Formats: sequence, structure tokens, C-alpha cells
Amino acid sequence: MTTSWLSFATMCWLCDFKTPSSRTTAPGEHRWNARRGFLLAAGASAAGTALAQVDVGSASSMRNLVPAETLENSARQQYAQVIADARAKNALAPTGHPQLQRLHDIAKRLIPHTAQWNPRAKEWKWQVNLIGSKQLNAWCMPGGKIAFYTGILDQLQLTDDEAAMIMGHEMAHALREHARERMAKSQVTGLGLSIASQLLGLGQLGNVAADMGTQLLTLKYSRDDETEADLVGLEIAVRAGYKPEASVSLWKKMQAASGGNNNASFLSTHPSGANRIQELEANIPKVQHLYEQASKGQ
Ligand SMILES: [Zn+2]
Repeated sequence: MTTSWLSFATMCWLCDFKTPSSRTTAPGEHRWNARRGFLLAAGASAAGTALAQVDVGSASSMRNLVPAETLENSARQQYAQVIADARAKNALAPTGHPQLQRLHDIAKRLIPHTAQWNPRAKEWKWQVNLIGSKQLNAWCMPGGKIAFYTGILDQLQLTDDEAAMIMGHEMAHALREHARERMAKSQVTGLGLSIASQLLGLGQLGNVAADMGTQLLTLKYSRDDETEADLVGLEIAVRAGYKPEASVSLWKKMQAASGGNNNASFLSTHPSGANRIQELEANIPKVQHLYEQASKGQ
């Protein structure tokens, strides 16, 4: 039952809430209209270039060892493969699916607030797809390629505000280039030597893309990455007019849902739910005024 698209479950904290996988759902496919999202983004960022309110420091310079463009190309190929696999299994939500439409509506509101965290995002062709699976899972690959699994929406009965917090969190991983940083670090420790040699011109470019795509399947983010994604995601969602308290109610639901599962490995690699909730609660006052501003504007 292990397939490449299910392997993405390891990419993020969210994804460690594993539930027995079984696939369902509808045929067809849909692609996010990135161009429209981008145009909206350009307008809004010109209107409000406020300074970041949450404090996450600057991104690690080590990530520069891996060219962003190369990684984004690899991610694009890998994403296309994941979507093609889901489609082949009849597990891709079709255009017009109400949950997919809801995700697109949320993305449309969040995207204008992304370039503030990474100027490259202005050029990204954002995509959002919904995959039929009982897993509590969602992710965003480098370059803005997003997937939600039906399990996370259905099982947690997410409100729009909570779904926006998840999307913001996943977007933040991509914007802060956590995958790029992980890959750069793996090169330094020798695990990515084949990639390093190829980047230096010792191999063929096609292989670089393939190797990186494979690495994307097995990456794990650090605790710090997760905290950063929580806070940056919170700010993005709040600027888009979603309630900051939803970040806390989301993780409470997540905690409750994971209560009966075997969490040992998850707890060893990720901040506990309680710490995570405390951190978010401490940051809500910093972004409250952004929510009020955004609400007025709607
Ligand atoms: Zn995460």
C-alpha cells in the first residue's frame, strides 16, 4: 500500500498523525489558477507591506548551497507525479468538489500575504489539490505546490479558519525554504554527495532533479522548522482575515485526534502539542491587530 504519494506523509508535523490509510473518492482533477492568485497577490502586497509581527529570525544561509530554482523544478516534477498517481487511483478531487473549492477560496486569500516572506513567491505557480485519503495530512512543496488529504478536513471537521491555519503553516515551510535547508545540510554531512557532485557539473542535470525529488519524499523538518511554520503561518492567515484563535483550536483538535494513536516517534521528532499551543497562544496578541485590520477591510 506504500506509494510515492503516500510517502509525503513524512514531510511535516501534520503528517505524522498517521491513520490507517485507505483511499476513496472521486475521479477527475483540478489545477489552481495560479495566474489569478498571482495577480491578487501583487495588488495586495503593494497595498500593505507591513513588517512581520512574529519573530522567527532570518532564514539559514546554509540553504544557499542548493539553488532554489533547481529545487523548485524538482518539486514541480515530483508534484506532477503525485497528482498523476492520485488521478490514476481515482483519488483526486474533481473541479467543483465543494471541499476543493473551499481550499481554493482560502488559498486565494492567503497567497497575497506570502511574498512578504519570500520574494520568489511572486513568481510561483501556486497549485492546490485535494487527495482522497483518510490520513490527517497536508503539505506544500517548494514552489507552492499544495495538497490536502480529505482525512484532515473530514476527521477534524475543520472550520475555514482552522483549514487556513494549516494551509498557512504548510505555505510557511515552502516560503522559509525548510526543504532547501534540510537538503543543504544533508549535503554537508555527506548524505547528499551525489547531488553536490552533480551541482558542481560532475553529473547530468536531469539526475539532479530526480535525486532532489526523491529526497523530497523522505525529508523531515526540525522542531525549529515546525515552530517557525506555526508562527509564520499564523501571521499569513491572520493577515488574510482568519481568526488567530483558530491556530489553537486546530492543534487541540489535532492533539485529541492523535490521542489514541502510537505517538512515540512523533513526539521524539516534534514539539509536543502542549508546547506548540503555548507558543501560538503567546503570539496571538502580536497579530491580533492584523486580524482587526483585515476584518475591517472585508
Ligand atoms: Zn509542519
